Amino acid sequence: MPELPEVETVRRGLTRLVQHARITSVDVYYEKMVSPEPEKFKQMLAGKTIEKIDRRGKYLLFRFNDNLTMVSHLRMEGKYDVQPAGNEITKHTHVVFHLADGRDLRYTDTRKFGRMHLMATGEETQKVSGIAKMGPEPTAEALTFDYMKRIFSKSRKAIKPLLLDQSEIAGIGNIYADETLWLSRIHPLQPANTIPDFQIRQLRANIIDEISRAIQGHGTTVHSFSTAFGEAGEFQNHLMVYGRKGEKCLRCGGEIKKIKVAQRGTHFCPECQKLRENPGVTMVLGLTGGIATGKSTVSDIFKGYQVPIIDADKVARDVVKPGTKGLTAIKDTFGWQMLTPDGTLDRHALGTLVFSQAEALAKLNTIMGPLIKTAVVRKIQGFRRRKVPLVIYDAPTLFEAHGAAGVNEIMVVTIPEKMQLTRLMTRDNLSKEAAKDRIKSQLPLAEKVKRADVVIDNSGSVDKTKAQVLEWLDGAGFGSLTNEN
Ligand SMILES: [Zn+2]
Repeated sequence: MPELPEVETVRRGLTRLVQHARITSVDVYYEKMVSPEPEKFKQMLAGKTIEKIDRRGKYLLFRFNDNLTMVSHLRMEGKYDVQPAGNEITKHTHVVFHLADGRDLRYTDTRKFGRMHLMATGEETQKVSGIAKMGPEPTAEALTFDYMKRIFSKSRKAIKPLLLDQSEIAGIGNIYADETLWLSRIHPLQPANTIPDFQIRQLRANIIDEISRAIQGHGTTVHSFSTAFGEAGEFQNHLMVYGRKGEKCLRCGGEIKKIKVAQRGTHFCPECQKLRENPGVTMVLGLTGGIATGKSTVSDIFKGYQVPIIDADKVARDVVKPGTKGLTAIKDTFGWQMLTPDGTLDRHALGTLVFSQAEALAKLNTIMGPLIKTAVVRKIQGFRRRKVPLVIYDAPTLFEAHGAAGVNEIMVVTIPEKMQLTRLMTRDNLSKEAAKDRIKSQLPLAEKVKRADVVIDNSGSVDKTKAQVLEWLDGAGFGSLTNEN
């Protein structure tokens, strides 16, 4: 079934092709498809001009002169196309609008579920129950945070069926529901009234973005739908979770699962979309970047606004202090050479080893990952108990160490590759080769940028970087943290 972006694509295509065209006559081959009854329908449309085509949800609204509107719903397989008059009428062609310029606007529908209703312009908001009860369009203007908060707080329903309910929000179909929930890290069964404000904001932004991106990409072609205007949907290439059952989550590497929610096939990542009994109000922002991209500049900006920071490097040092399980595991795996004579970790020896051997780095990550995770989770729980609104998890290897699963949003600090190399050589006094090796030991920066929710370009002045952080804080609902007084 076409979703809102496909219907919008149809609307734009039709506008380009038949706006201002005049109808001379109409043929109806399947009587049940139109109302009023066919003779009246034909008579009302003869001589009318298509002034414009609007859309509300998945309804197309053909506006004619003399205050006349045709409400058209494509349902499962309905399609419009424009052909020269005289072309053969196929068996799935049900309505033909003959245009004064010698073309036909034809409606085909293999399932015959589509309907067209003529009425006075404006009446559709009362007469068509689907439109009368329809929620706001998924646009920045119509779908406000306050509105979403209001409908969420009233409902104990699972979030996914609520998103699919056209009377709450118009135009979110099954694919977009799965995609936007994944982007917002919300479990499809999370009760709507337990979702904290920051996640409502994320979800709202993701819905608006996703639908507008899908419209830019001419809709998906996951189902048999394609536009009649020669624009194949490109958006299926951008799907992150829908249809990817059994594959790895593109964010955290977890395995995508498929379940049924309200009779609909539902895709999600159990690692980064956890069902939470008590989600709490604390948003955890994962902060990462490539080596020497200047992540600390960004973390200092947050510190300046009293936002608490969980420093993954410090946590990593703490879990391998003398007497810890971590230090014992490192000694057992890589040998006593990893210890200094006084029994502490020899960071230089370990660093040299893991930066030159990918396998050793992987082993180290397997040891450190779970230890760091437990320590970080404990810290986050502490902040949640104290209802701290925002916490930064500052982690250089957020992606490599699978820390991506536990955060609510990921900010990646980036600079151009050449600048990264120069900065690293200067900072750590390394040769070009050594610096390149060190950069190569991490996930490529471009890949991190691709997986980021928000990207901070740190190649300019500190002020420019700060402006980007402020913009993010504002958009994420933390503007009050930055009010200087
Ligand atoms: Zn995941």
